[in-house]
Amino acid sequence: DALVVCDNLVRIYQSETIEVQALQGLDLLVHEGEMVALVGASGSGKSTLLNVLAGVDAPTAGRARVAGHDLADMSRTEQVRYRRHVVGFVRQQASRNLVPYLTASQVVDLPMTIAGLPRARRGARTEELLELLGVAHCTDRRPLQMSGGEQQRVAIAVALANEPRLLLADEPTGELDSATAAEVFAALRTVNRELGATVVVVTHDAAVSGQVARTVAIRDGRTSSEVVRSDADAGS
Ligand code: ADP
Ligand code: ADP
Repeated sequence: DALVVCDNLVRIYQSETIEVQALQGLDLLVHEGEMVALVGASGSGKSTLLNVLAGVDAPTAGRARVAGHDLADMSRTEQVRYRRHVVGFVRQQASRNLVPYLTASQVVDLPMTIAGLPRARRGARTEELLELLGVAHCTDRRPLQMSGGEQQRVAIAVALANEPRLLLADEPTGELDSATAAEVFAALRTVNRELGATVVVVTHDAAVSGQVARTVAIRDGRTSSEVVRSDADAGS
């Protein structure tokens, strides 16, 4: 089943002096349970697309639907619900995903507390997620006591806390060395495989995107017709 459907999606940034067409009629289809890597040159519109899918930026024209939500037409209440329960978002800068004075277990607990989950369920879920992502040893550590890779894996746990339908990650490995980046990417694949979460991840790193079943190239605000790699090539 289709989880994400973008149809002729347009996002124009306009100021008094300039107009930037960040997305110029982009089409994208992501099925439930898929993991997709978005690649493309800097400025091609990858972050803009992720921000639209995250519900933090609105399309200028065209259609974007995620799990039955029309992103071009959400009330304020629906938008809050959407960001809280339908999508999880991991940013490039690890420090922006966490809170300096909160430990890993406290920061994973936070979105569930806001959502009103009972303490026992929150505790069990936090433990399960930190374990799955290989950062159980960080439970009582604050960001400064973790490596960049550990921080990003905790950030993935935070994004997954409320069981979103879609996990979005905007160059989560952009600031990491290649070995650590591979570790974080492996964590995303685990989440996709073990939890069945649909994952859309932006990356510059070809070594890393090569491990994903489907890669979609973005060029000048559109999905490029050239197929970078598909399931049919896997393992060859
Ligand atoms: P990418 O993530 O592929 O590097 P972006 O989505 O960040 O690309 O940017 C696409 C284009 O839109 C770029 O030309 C960028 O400068 C422009 N852009 C992005 N965000 C804004 C904004 N808030 N205001 C004006 N222009 C923007
Ligand atoms: P990335 O390389 O991850 O796309 P950028 O450095 O392009 O990150 O953008 C970082 C932030 O700045 C994003 O939120 C983007 O929307 C915003 N941004 C990018 N280009 C512009 C621009 N020309 N004017 C205003 N904001 C921009």
